[in-house]
Amino acid sequence: MAIYKFPATLTKENDGGYLVNFCDIDGCFTDGNSLEQALSNAKDALCLFLYHMEQGNKKINSPSNPTSLKCSKNESIHVISCNTGDYKSNRDCVKEILVKNNLWSIPVDLNQLAKNEGFDIKLLPMIDEEGSIEVSKDKKIIKINVDDYPKRRTFTLAHELGHWFKDGYGKELFACRDDKIRNEYNAHESEINSFASELLMPYELMSQFIIDLNDMDMYTEDNIEYLIADKFNVSKEAARIRFKKFVKEAIT
Ligand SMILES: [Zn+2]
Repeated sequence: MAIYKFPATLTKENDGGYLVNFCDIDGCFTDGNSLEQALSNAKDALCLFLYHMEQGNKKINSPSNPTSLKCSKNESIHVISCNTGDYKSNRDCVKEILVKNNLWSIPVDLNQLAKNEGFDIKLLPMIDEEGSIEVSKDKKIIKINVDDYPKRRTFTLAHELGHWFKDGYGKELFACRDDKIRNEYNAHESEINSFASELLMPYELMSQFIIDLNDMDMYTEDNIEYLIADKFNVSKEAARIRFKKFVKEAIT
């Protein structure tokens, strides 16, 4: 998964619609009834195309310089960016990351993952915050509130790494999870939490763990959540949320 920027040529049609073509990527084109729709479809088409090229290990050409592209009267150039990581499910992203780092086992060693990605982890007292992440040209730091209990700190580390893999991955980044953000409903933060939960309790590893329990009827849901919390080194609450989601995922 990666972030890409490619120029697209938009051609205005007589009926008011637009055709979109990416000259650097053979066969990648789309359209839209309005400029807004054409740009949104362009992003989807680019992401889908590049995602499949990554999956098939196909060579992706570097993007042309947009200013070097010639266009006629009814054409305009727009630079479209996309993150193929958005296209993949958290499940696929997490597996790819952990396998690549040789960390596909439980409990997932997030300290090692953070280290592999070049982060300094700093445990320190923080006011109204559980953690934060800072990425700039010369430093990569994850701060974690030392006053939180260990399993909470592990979740915070997973959350901050979630910002890195979902929001950052190569660009400057500053994000934190303070009480203000957490108390308001914040769709993005909750998306990062889902990623963090998958990172700590990957679907496939959890599935294998549950199969290995053999006779699940022997256990109550509460027992299973307790075993998950213990095995994956997460809080009972995090195990409960993940297990509920896991059951849903397993049915659908
Ligand atoms: Zn956050």
